[in-house]
Amino acid sequence: MKTLNIGLIGTGFMGKAHAIALKAAPTVFSLPAFPVCELLAEVNDELAAHKATELGFTRSTGDWRALVEDPKVDVVDICAPNFLHKEMALAAIAAGKHVYAEKPLALSAADAAAMVEAAESSGVKTLVGFNYIRNSATQLAREIIASGEIGELVHFRGRHNEDYLSDPTSPLDWHTCRATAGAGALGDLGSHILNMAEFLTGQHIVEVFGQLQTVTARRPLPGNSGGFGEVENDDHAQALLRFDGGLIGNIETSRIATGRKMGLAYTVTGTRGSLVFDQERMSELQLYTSEGPEGRRGFRTLLVGPEHPDYAAFSPAAGHGLGYNDQKIIEIRDLVEGIVSGKPLYPDFHAAWRVNRMIDAIEASHVEGHWTRV
Ligand code: NAD
Repeated sequence: MKTLNIGLIGTGFMGKAHAIALKAAPTVFSLPAFPVCELLAEVNDELAAHKATELGFTRSTGDWRALVEDPKVDVVDICAPNFLHKEMALAAIAAGKHVYAEKPLALSAADAAAMVEAAESSGVKTLVGFNYIRNSATQLAREIIASGEIGELVHFRGRHNEDYLSDPTSPLDWHTCRATAGAGALGDLGSHILNMAEFLTGQHIVEVFGQLQTVTARRPLPGNSGGFGEVENDDHAQALLRFDGGLIGNIETSRIATGRKMGLAYTVTGTRGSLVFDQERMSELQLYTSEGPEGRRGFRTLLVGPEHPDYAAFSPAAGHGLGYNDQKIIEIRDLVEGIVSGKPLYPDFHAAWRVNRMIDAIEASHVEGHWTRV
């Protein structure tokens, strides 16, 4: 069988999720090539060797540039913090490697544009990890919308709220620093719901009116020094949206939404029905259709099952549910098929650049106090 050798950079939250998915994908799906966990890079040789053993990679290195240039690596898989994505991706593209990168693609739209240009002129394949669009329930929502079952779309409401920084005594880390993260909640979580809005509706967001706020301006420095430092980006943000197909909508996003653990949710309203989804109940989709007598209408809960996109590969039994890591397994299937069979990959660097443009436009709108074109 054909193989695809993966070089993974970074083994934190996302690096582990990618490793799990790389190992599981050939068991779940019938793939056109076998993804091989070939080489792993971390910040030093010792950590890299330890993580390679733990996550099942053949070789390791403490130098990500050696990974990018390694002749056996076909795909560079970037799971490092945001500020490293551009440098790593440009080096990988220059070495002729396909690139699978985590979101947000870059710290700014200008950086993302440089990455798009490099990828498109070299012809390598790219994929960005906006994994929530691959959940079976959300793929089903997209199918229902595209089929016209809920009529013409009139409104999109999206949110992605979590509470990982709701405790004001949680220390600063790379997420709170402009130079390492870019935008705050807006870049980290808002990026997912902005991509989701375009994925579900099939329309592009063309104009935004944004508002951002940093609620906890200072946090303890990491370690036990007792010192404090500035939080340099937003804790929460919201924006009004205009889409190119005439739809209007809004998003909100927060990393201080006390109690909300995985609050990616949307309501899509159409002229003949509506859809409601909440990632904390990720195997359910609420569907309302304007059918039957008025007194018998209501939202129905569709539990995902083998009839729905990609579910049957995991289980023959309806309602048993998928999990977060399963979305990544589906993403790996798409990555392998895109590279080997030439299927278009979405979201590639170009689609992810759009998200960076939306983030920049929401920030600019907040500063200037008016509607801003994406
Ligand atoms: P993390 O801090 O948990 O892990 C980052 C890893 O990168 C660490 O293991 C760190 O040692 C390593 N690293 C840092 N600098 C490096 C270097 N120079 N060379 C090699 N390794 C290096 O971060 P995370 O939460 O895994 O986030 C990583 C990326 O994944 C970010 O871009 C983030 O936005 C994204 N992310 C995506 C999702 C999703 O659902 N798609 C969820 C969380 C994070």
